[in-house]
Amino acid sequence: MPYETIIGLEIHVQLKTKSKMFCGCPNEAEPKEPNQNVCPVCMGHPGVLPTINKQAVEWTIMSGQALHCDIPTESKFDRKNYFYPDLPKGYQISQYDKPLCGEGYLEIKDDGETKKIELERIHLEEDAGKLLHPDGANYSLVDYNRASTPLMEIVTKPDIRAPQEARVFLQKLRKILLYIGVSNADMEKGQLRCDANISLRPEGAKELLPKTEIKNLNSFKAVEQALLYEVGRQTEVLDAGKELHQATRGWNDDLSETVEQRTKEGEADYRYFPDPDLPPLTFTKEQLDKIKQGLPELPEERRERLEKQFGLKSEEAEMLVDDRAVGEFFENVISEAQEWINSFEGKDEVLSEEAQKVIKQTFNWITSPLFKLLNKEGISLADCKITAENFAELMAMIHEGKVNSSAAEKVLEVMFAKGSDPSQVVEELDLAQLGDSDELSGIIDKVIADNPGPVEDYKAGKENALQFMVGQVMAATKGKADPQVAGEALKKKIS
Ligand code: ZN
Ligand code: MN
Repeated sequence: MPYETIIGLEIHVQLKTKSKMFCGCPNEAEPKEPNQNVCPVCMGHPGVLPTINKQAVEWTIMSGQALHCDIPTESKFDRKNYFYPDLPKGYQISQYDKPLCGEGYLEIKDDGETKKIELERIHLEEDAGKLLHPDGANYSLVDYNRASTPLMEIVTKPDIRAPQEARVFLQKLRKILLYIGVSNADMEKGQLRCDANISLRPEGAKELLPKTEIKNLNSFKAVEQALLYEVGRQTEVLDAGKELHQATRGWNDDLSETVEQRTKEGEADYRYFPDPDLPPLTFTKEQLDKIKQGLPELPEERRERLEKQFGLKSEEAEMLVDDRAVGEFFENVISEAQEWINSFEGKDEVLSEEAQKVIKQTFNWITSPLFKLLNKEGISLADCKITAENFAELMAMIHEGKVNSSAAEKVLEVMFAKGSDPSQVVEELDLAQLGDSDELSGIIDKVIADNPGPVEDYKAGKENALQFMVGQVMAATKGKADPQVAGEALKKKIS
């Protein structure tokens, strides 16, 4: 029987605030030793008073604003009670019926189609500690460094219809979070964790069948694969005429399958009630507007602006906005390069035409040679040593014909490795292009004298023969000649 797939996601995002959610302990991604960043508050000792991290609240609201959420003017924190050794207080401070952000949505593009995935809510809570199970030991260890780290939980409606769609949604969500700068959202480090709810329903039916919740998926690939596996498993159970039951399952990366962990507790088991130690929150419209003003330009807006402002194609602009730092670098290079063009071009019409060329050239040099170097080293642009100013200078040198493109690639490599100034590299490596100089003229005379055969061939109309001689000139100048200039000079001298 054909089934429809119904998927909803719960995404936990570790916020990169300086301190923890309810105390002053450092919120460090990777402290050196276990249980260094702890205090009586995050350890839940009796008589202590938690205080709310303002930055975490503002960042959650800001994320909600980026995701088109309703932001209510009132919110509060609640205790979610359950017992587990990694939870020192015996309850988690979370939000129950008054989350910071209400309904919202995120638009995704999958297979060329735009689709709106609606969000149920976004709330703020604290993380638990970490249990460690040493190999072969009959005891476990617990590290509370992570206890009370701020977690923003984003809950979608069951709007996702395919495992691939879930992956695309998460990737887009992550990009937005990185742009806003509220989290490093590194899935491998657990800064972005995804739980996926999935159930099937016979096509045309209204009622959902019992769902599976897949816990703690920590890569985009795992999300897609675990969901694909569940679609297959649930379909098999149903087709065999058996019944499904609601359960929590884990994803085993090595076996590529989900494994049942426990049947799920209902909501009532958590005995939610308002945290008596924390005041309810109220926001004025002015406060919410002020937070919204802090929102940076988001990837989609930037893509549209880059297209308009620089005459880029949509796919080109997309390549520049994928990583926030890349788009910023591109714009910085252009504004630096603009000064260079201004210094060597006079008339306005010429300027805009030249500017177009420099923009195109800059785009090509960033997305091709520079991306290649970044990929090779496995680093992101934010960690690259090349400054926008130096990159712009290299663009100007290429544009002015001071270096040819193969020499420029060598220069770029040195700049990439050492962060050096391009004009210095050109001098050090003796890569400056030979213009229409006496030196070039002499080399061309010699190439003509040494190659009577090709000269005759060219005179007889064979274009290849000219290319051969240009090659000889390039070799004799160690690649410093401009092939076009050399070709023209050869033609002139032979005729
Ligand atoms: Zn603490
Ligand atoms: Mn949660």
